[in-house]
Amino acid sequence: MDMLSWRLQQAIDFLPVCQVIADIGCDHGYAGLALLQQGKAKRVIACDISASSLEKARRLFVRYGREKQVDFFVCDGLARASGAQAALLAGMGGHTMVQILQKDVEIAHALERLVLQPSDSVDVLRSFLARSGYAIEQETILRDGRLYPLLSVRYTGESYTLDARQTLIGPLNLARMDTHTRSYIQWQIHILQKTFRTPAVSERGRKMQKRNRWLAEQLQALLPQQKGEPKKMIPTVKQIADVLEPMAPSNMVAGFDTCGVQCGDFTQRVRTVLLCLDVTEDVADEAIAKGVDMIISHHPVIKPTVRHLQEQDGAERIIRKLIKADITFLNAHSNLDCAEGGICDVLCRMFDVKVTHNLKPIGAGYFGRMGTVEPITVQALAQKAKKLLNCTKVVYSGDGQRVITKLAIAGGNGSTVCKDALPLGAECVITGDVLYHTALEFGQNGLSMIDAGHYDTEKVILPDLQKRLQNACNQLQYEVEFLISTVGKDVFTQV
Ligand SMILES: [Zn+2]
Repeated sequence: MDMLSWRLQQAIDFLPVCQVIADIGCDHGYAGLALLQQGKAKRVIACDISASSLEKARRLFVRYGREKQVDFFVCDGLARASGAQAALLAGMGGHTMVQILQKDVEIAHALERLVLQPSDSVDVLRSFLARSGYAIEQETILRDGRLYPLLSVRYTGESYTLDARQTLIGPLNLARMDTHTRSYIQWQIHILQKTFRTPAVSERGRKMQKRNRWLAEQLQALLPQQKGEPKKMIPTVKQIADVLEPMAPSNMVAGFDTCGVQCGDFTQRVRTVLLCLDVTEDVADEAIAKGVDMIISHHPVIKPTVRHLQEQDGAERIIRKLIKADITFLNAHSNLDCAEGGICDVLCRMFDVKVTHNLKPIGAGYFGRMGTVEPITVQALAQKAKKLLNCTKVVYSGDGQRVITKLAIAGGNGSTVCKDALPLGAECVITGDVLYHTALEFGQNGLSMIDAGHYDTEKVILPDLQKRLQNACNQLQYEVEFLISTVGKDVFTQV
């Protein structure tokens, strides 16, 4: 079932086969449905505090003909889970889990297994479990975008103590010390270090910083420092910007354009970077959910029209969201178009263009390329574009049967290169955002235009940039991961 995340599947794998399993905070019901489909439970108790979520879950079970195997309850926590042998609590913070276990103590104690996947404050949860006599029987760290702890616990009534490292990382995880545990420790050190970057103002703050510094050192000591192997470091925003500079040089930024770090702190450490063309609200939410420290987008987040930052304005709300989540955002726009190896060059590579000319000068660079291709008709080239770029929509102007060998290419809104391409003998141009009158006018002068879409002629840069940034950072021993947004998409849908 494609709706079930890898993270939830891991949680399900932690559950034993039972008669009845309670899915607490069931949200859309994906986990509950999978429990039935995978034979983990004969019945599911689906509980959620939100009636609308529960209604969504109900519709999902109906769609798969499983609604008779489910009891639905709009309720808080474990209140209606008394008939279950096991319960799954995922997608909520550690504090909420503690509240739930404290509220319905009897029911919680009677469960043979509780599978917990806290989205934060796992240390709070583990200290509660130790104090209250829940044994941790199984635990792991899993990666699904970011790293998540997953625990399977059972009430025994015997309380025990955990030290600070065990509370944060998990006693079984520490005993096993696998790759994900090591990454998780590094991430926790990074989070702790963030708290003592700026001096505390209050006495309480200073105490907290002292404790965090101590804990970070304790955790650091757990990580093996192999002799002879260079130590990896978490790069700063400045260091990431420096790595990007040759790929999108700042001297190729157009006069009208905004590029570079639009908002952020050059000294901030960066473990994960999200790459996208546009920071839509969905992309911003994705960045927050994946816990990324930085976004590198093609189009700027702060456009020249932004005069204030109001929650009620769509574009401004996104900026507020990113700032509140402490996510740095940098964009590489005209400089990424023009750079050697940038968008235009990636397109030329894909279309086997032997580049002979650069087109429109922008700063120290040029926007658009021109070169020769094997003889091909305009129509066949348009079809090739549709296939190569997996386009939403492709249209062309002029005679489709005309055979061309001199092709100009410019990603995105690239009609502006026509003026430079025509005198050089270009017969066809591939770009996006072609206006009717532009196509008409240049057509009359012998230039066919293929409009393969703004988004589709630019998205090709993302996997290429990801690879180059990752390789460059790996060479510098930077501990950082570059992800491509999985929710970024064309603003248009073809009917
Ligand atoms: Zn663009």
